[in-house]
Amino acid sequence: MRAVSTFPEARRAIRDPEQTPLPLDPGSPSASGDVAKFIAGLLTAILVVGFSIAPSIAAEKLKAVASFSILADLVKQVGGDHVDVTAIVGPDGDAHVFQPSPLDAKAVADANIVVINGLGFEGWVARLIQSSGTKAPVVVASKGVKPLQGEGEDNGKADPHAWQSIANTKVYVANIRDGLISADPADKADFEANAKAYLAKLDQLETEVKAAIASIPPKNRKIITTHDAFGYFGRAYGMTFIAPQGVSTDTEPSAKDVAKIIRQVKAQHVPAVFLENISDDRLMQQIARESGAKIGDKLYSDALSKPGEGAATYIDMMHNNVAAFSKALKE
Ligand SMILES: [Zn+2]
Repeated sequence: MRAVSTFPEARRAIRDPEQTPLPLDPGSPSASGDVAKFIAGLLTAILVVGFSIAPSIAAEKLKAVASFSILADLVKQVGGDHVDVTAIVGPDGDAHVFQPSPLDAKAVADANIVVINGLGFEGWVARLIQSSGTKAPVVVASKGVKPLQGEGEDNGKADPHAWQSIANTKVYVANIRDGLISADPADKADFEANAKAYLAKLDQLETEVKAAIASIPPKNRKIITTHDAFGYFGRAYGMTFIAPQGVSTDTEPSAKDVAKIIRQVKAQHVPAVFLENISDDRLMQQIARESGAKIGDKLYSDALSKPGEGAATYIDMMHNNVAAFSKALKE
């Protein structure tokens, strides 16, 4: 990660009226010279106003590119009015198998700061950053998080879904705050205040999630999801998640894997299987049908919902998921 951005320098250069050429001719005393002077002065005024105010309003906002929707929300929460955030993988998108377009490369090239998850989540992102030629600092939001290791076929691979533990998301927020301060030191106080207020909301969310899971009978705290995205959640809040797909969605489970899951659901009396917003529903429907488990409400694992669909922010996403667990597992 580079600590210094070119952003503040660029902004100063745009604002400096000394740099604007003055098209005045000071040598002519004539009336027409006065008119020429007046017009030239007017033009200068327009140029100075034009160059010093209009572009600086646009330049006030830091352009942030986040690799996926959940990170984009966190950057928005900390950046507030000082930041325009673009997500490369948007709502309901699957970042595991994403293929960036030339437009994504342009967004990265134009960015003042790039925020990625890390832990191998976005396998495509290093090449995208490199090919874009961007000079923007890259913040790895998961830096400092203790990674869980994948199991079975994922042995030796880090589980990238660290945001499913709120304690980890607090680490993300601190990294994003520090990255924004490096890129735009003038707005340090606001980034610090926004981060502090948001961290307090995450504390509150953590209390609510723990209470909600505690009210589910322990024998019911096990569920099936399409891919293994809830390892950190399970570890943090005491639930067991079983998934036919591993910590990525890039390989389809075999018929043998699916049959094994169905046997497991029956043997362990797993009450419910859940659909994910980023995955195909058919596999889970087959598992529910053949095992007799019920289908719970939709979970948001690796992406937020579109605006207005109930999980458009990280906090709403966690509320949605916990409500889905409670509803399916309490009775
Ligand atoms: Zn995932």
